[in-house]
Amino acid sequence: MDVREKVCRGEKRKYYRFRFAKFYGGIATADCTGCNLKCFFCWSWRPRDLLIGRFYSPREVFERLVRIAEKNRVNKVRISGNEPTLCEKHLLEVLELFQGTNLLFILETNGILLDKRYVRELSRFDNLHVRVSLKGTNEEEFRALTGSSGFKKQLDALKNLLDQGVSFHPAVMVSFSSKQNFERLLEKLREMDPYLVKSLEVEEVVLYPHVREKIREHLGERGP
Ligand code: SF4
Repeated sequence: MDVREKVCRGEKRKYYRFRFAKFYGGIATADCTGCNLKCFFCWSWRPRDLLIGRFYSPREVFERLVRIAEKNRVNKVRISGNEPTLCEKHLLEVLELFQGTNLLFILETNGILLDKRYVRELSRFDNLHVRVSLKGTNEEEFRALTGSSGFKKQLDALKNLLDQGVSFHPAVMVSFSSKQNFERLLEKLREMDPYLVKSLEVEEVVLYPHVREKIREHLGERGP
């Protein structure tokens, strides 16, 4: 069964937590439940696999995020946790509610679903910034990290965002990549557009105890 059938219900979406976080200089955060990938190093594998949480309407998410942002005097909000793009109707309605506010909405995504049509929808929002997290530096690494194929879809998402003029930047998880593969990725991104290299954020796995445990399970003796 597609995970969307479990975490999207009409315009509602399942979330497992709302919080303030220190990233981006301070940001109100809604952690959604459910992902279309299975990265073995995932820091939020519990909600991803157990699908914990409850359903919230777009307005409930909006109101909670605004409250957290006001309380902490920050002007940024985001949906994080698992994969925000899974429930498109819900996400677009949340973005509609933030349109016209003075809050910047950061969408953290693996980009797999961001085809031309979806990105065209996102391009309507001018207070939106998308962060696409590449899983590894090529198709082979992507498969080793996530257990499925899809690296090309991630690169296509970057191209679609560029073409539609959406504010975004790529990030790449390099903890399990060789230096040579990383260099090759930089070359590929440069060929696509120099902006992709200039704005690239390099990510390393944060070894929280529950993440360390998952990595050990996957890599055995080679784990941390
Ligand atoms: S894409 Fe993100 S949320 Fe999904 S499994 Fe990978 S690390 Fe976890």
